Amino acid sequence: VTVGVVKESLPGERRVALVPKAVERLVARGLKVIVESGAGDAALITDSDFESVGATIGEAWAAQVVLKVGPPTAVEATRLAPGTLLIGFLAPLSNVERIKELAEGGVTAFAVESIPRITRAQAMDALSSQSSVAGYRAVLLAAERLTRFFPMLTTAAGTVAPAKVLVLGAGVAGLQALATARRLGAQTTGYDVRPEVAEQVRSVGAQWLDLGIEAVGEGGYARELTAEERAEQQRRLTEAITRFDVVITTALVPGRQAPVLVTAEAVRGMPSGGVVVDLAGESGGNCELTEAGQDVVRHGVTISSPLNLPAGMPAHASELYSRNLTELLGSLLNDEGALALDFSDEVVAGACVTGEGRD
Ligand code: NAD
Repeated sequence: VTVGVVKESLPGERRVALVPKAVERLVARGLKVIVESGAGDAALITDSDFESVGATIGEAWAAQVVLKVGPPTAVEATRLAPGTLLIGFLAPLSNVERIKELAEGGVTAFAVESIPRITRAQAMDALSSQSSVAGYRAVLLAAERLTRFFPMLTTAAGTVAPAKVLVLGAGVAGLQALATARRLGAQTTGYDVRPEVAEQVRSVGAQWLDLGIEAVGEGGYARELTAEERAEQQRRLTEAITRFDVVITTALVPGRQAPVLVTAEAVRGMPSGGVVVDLAGESGGNCELTEAGQDVVRHGVTISSPLNLPAGMPAHASELYSRNLTELLGSLLNDEGALALDFSDEVVAGACVTGEGRD
């Protein structure tokens, strides 16, 4: 089997689908890895780093399996020969047109975000690995913009109270944000509509904010709230948010517009110099005042909506992602090291968004 690692073209994307350590493992399994020249440049991994572990630099788009981070552009999609297996973050729910083009081109496409979140697939869970990076970086960004300290300090020049940080949405990114904020010395509180995460919030040293609204959906995800629930949630959150210096929002519902949790009124109630970091900007934002990809100051509060945070920490983000991909790829090979897609396997059936054998 030949595996191609191509160069990412999205502006600001610094990750690469495989790091040399992962290439080494695949080569040891008898696979041939072809890396497009410059694929690792933005992550500060050179062509010769890849060559030194057994990869060749060349026509990666022509490989049997093409590994990517982000979805291909329309032009890139045409470079994939019929029968190619493409694996990456393909945004199947929002990128329907491109998926159709891939299908028409005879490409078998696996979207890593569609891998079922089951225990057996945990090592392949790229959404989780990249969300951890995002949660971590969101806190650093908030700390950088806050006009106050995060930790409590007792100094000769006076005592400083710790920052109060609220994280809305306590999934993978939210829990990592809570843990990171706590490591920086902040007083942390977590909130979610899935009551089962209360225990996880407490386990990272945070308080649990209980607003009495539960919305458990399918597959471990939250469901969309009804209009009445939404209004009630916004009302109760608006009141709660005034007590926090920093609000980090991570709330998503698969395939839906992100819920608005932080209203303009809530921002107005926050202390001046406060910060909102909205990780849901790409899906419409969790804050009413969010402008995707921008930092704006409203009522003395900085509202920051960074896009693609994992891309800014390319070494570890790529390392974790490559581990996810090699685990997935490993599960697609038979004992002879040939590709053998078993569509009766829920992981394969779940990840495959287009291609032969999919029903
Ligand atoms: P996500 O990115 O889809 O959403 C982030 C969080 O926002 C979720 O916790 C969700 O409940 C919350 N949310 C949605 N709407 C909300 C609202 N209106 N108000 C407040 N919060 C809201 O979620 P995720 O981080 O990808 O993880 C979702 C689930 O998947 C979790 O249960 C997680 O434990 C589970 N999971 C399982 C595995 C596994 O077993 N392999 C791996 C990773 C995650």
